[in-house]
Amino acid sequence: MKNIRNFAIIAHVDHGKSTLADRLMAITGTLSGKDLLQEQFLDSNPISRERGITIKLAPVRMMYKSEKGEVRRENYDKNLSPSPKFILNLIDTPGHVDFSYEVVRTLYACEGAVLVVDATKGIQAQTVSHYNVAKSLGLKIIPVINKIDLDSAEIEKTENEIIEAFGFEKNEILRISAKSGIGIEELIKVIIEKVPPPSPSLNDKTQALIFDSKYDEHRGIVIFVRVKSGSIKKGDEIMFLSDKSKALVMDIGYMSPNYSSQKEIKNGEVGYVITNVKDITQAKVGDTMTLSNNPGESLPGYKEQKPFVFLSIYPTSSVDFQNLRKALYSLKLTDASLEITPDYSTIFGSGFRCGFLGLLHSQIVIERLEREYYVDAFTAPPSIVYKVEGKEISSPKDFGPPAGGSKKEIAEPYILGEIYTPVEYLGGVLDLVYSLRGKEGDILYFGSQTRITFEMPMASIVYDFYDRLKSASSGYASFDYEFLEYRESNLDRMDISVNDVIVPELSFIVHKSQTDSFARKIVKTLSESIPKHNFQITVRAQVGGKIIASEKIGAYMKAVTEKLYGGDRTRKDKLLEKQKKGKKKMKSIGRVNVPKEAFMSVLKI
Ligand code: GDP
Ligand code: MG
Repeated sequence: MKNIRNFAIIAHVDHGKSTLADRLMAITGTLSGKDLLQEQFLDSNPISRERGITIKLAPVRMMYKSEKGEVRRENYDKNLSPSPKFILNLIDTPGHVDFSYEVVRTLYACEGAVLVVDATKGIQAQTVSHYNVAKSLGLKIIPVINKIDLDSAEIEKTENEIIEAFGFEKNEILRISAKSGIGIEELIKVIIEKVPPPSPSLNDKTQALIFDSKYDEHRGIVIFVRVKSGSIKKGDEIMFLSDKSKALVMDIGYMSPNYSSQKEIKNGEVGYVITNVKDITQAKVGDTMTLSNNPGESLPGYKEQKPFVFLSIYPTSSVDFQNLRKALYSLKLTDASLEITPDYSTIFGSGFRCGFLGLLHSQIVIERLEREYYVDAFTAPPSIVYKVEGKEISSPKDFGPPAGGSKKEIAEPYILGEIYTPVEYLGGVLDLVYSLRGKEGDILYFGSQTRITFEMPMASIVYDFYDRLKSASSGYASFDYEFLEYRESNLDRMDISVNDVIVPELSFIVHKSQTDSFARKIVKTLSESIPKHNFQITVRAQVGGKIIASEKIGAYMKAVTEKLYGGDRTRKDKLLEKQKKGKKKMKSIGRVNVPKEAFMSVLKI
């Protein structure tokens, strides 16, 4: 056990975490042959690769032995300690705040962390948030400056930022290039030297932290654990401490980087466990696995992950419904944090209401539906969880009647945000924060960078916050956030009516300060996309009895076909046919026929 090192790589997105992981695997001989050609082995999901984020952690066991500068792949099974060989368990962390709980669990499985900072970008939001998590868990942190091979690398400047922000000594900071391999061998030696080995078991009971799980087509549900005490063997009956459910261990071992089956895994080790559990939601990240005949205590810090962002997904045509259903449930097999409940809308038909950890999580799922399952679907805009009279609601439908003037206890979630930006964009970034009901906390300057902390309603970040931040800072700012608390807020339900008939799908929960402009936009968009009828139509936005905005659509004077000159039967027929087809996609609101597209365009505002 003295020769085990469990560590993670932490970094802001794109600073080179995956590249460094690949390089470490190559240099230790863990990856070889054709695997080496596949860049970024750990990011096995193509969408995560494209977006430059790591969604799933894949713990990898590497062997390191330095012999006259030569490193080679070892036969793990014959690795008997004590020996000069070292077992390096690398646990890749996910790179986005939507998965921050997974970052915490990952780091809890380690004794050390390599903090990677891109020499061309310097410290960014997640550099700091991940550093803080690692620090609070007491990990040994090794700071490295990456991409020193680039001409645009500002090594000294980055070094000073690291010293100023975290208080490291100059001589502790390594300089590497994950791409070209400079300084990697040295980094491995520093990891072995500075990261402490795992501590011995406290008692004879087994405690293993579940820090990830996935669905593997051939093997079923694979659970990744860090054993903190005792051991787990093939054939053991294990127990999940959160709900005391039991399961049998069918296979156990570690990834190197492919499955390497073992008889047992022991305290200090990181590995996979395959049981007869069929439902991925049973393998909860942060839960503790123990043995049912001699159960240990729960490891600290487990919490149920709750979705924050909700949205409804409907098939574009009803024939796609089964497709959508199948796709969603098969995604759920691999993604324990995705919540699905059937939903029905009078406009869009049968669909699903889905809960996600955050906005990015929802975007990834929708992209996967389209690209991996070819589902043609319409997604309503995301909504978050409000509290009305103490009850959590995730849809305006559950808001109840609008409060109007009456007293109703309504609270909305707030976030604590953190933006890193070069000084020259500070003004623009602050304006953006203010315009979204944000309130700044403190502003910190170091080097040419600033850090702004602020409080803001979560509702303000679910639409286009990332895009607007990008344009306010020419792409240089980075953003990170965590849930802060629920706060009383001046919110109400706004309804849209067409000739006095309220459309339930077009109800929104809005803040008083934004009601007017939002109402005007919606009413305008909707009135422009409803075709003329032979009577006048009024589109209104209202809160309770109070009308906020209103537009009229005038009646047309003549029948459509009279517009065509005279006798061209075929053109006339074609037009009528087209109208008939068009009508099929219409939804009647009272006597008014509204095309489905009209609702969609409103929901896209
Ligand atoms: P991650 O998001 O932290 O996993 O970052 P990646 O490993 O995906 O790297 C982001 C980009 O930076 C990729 O295009 C890499 O090829 C590139 N990159 C990573 N490390 C280096 C380096 O040392 N030198 C250079 N020139 N490019 C690098
Ligand atoms: Mg990556």
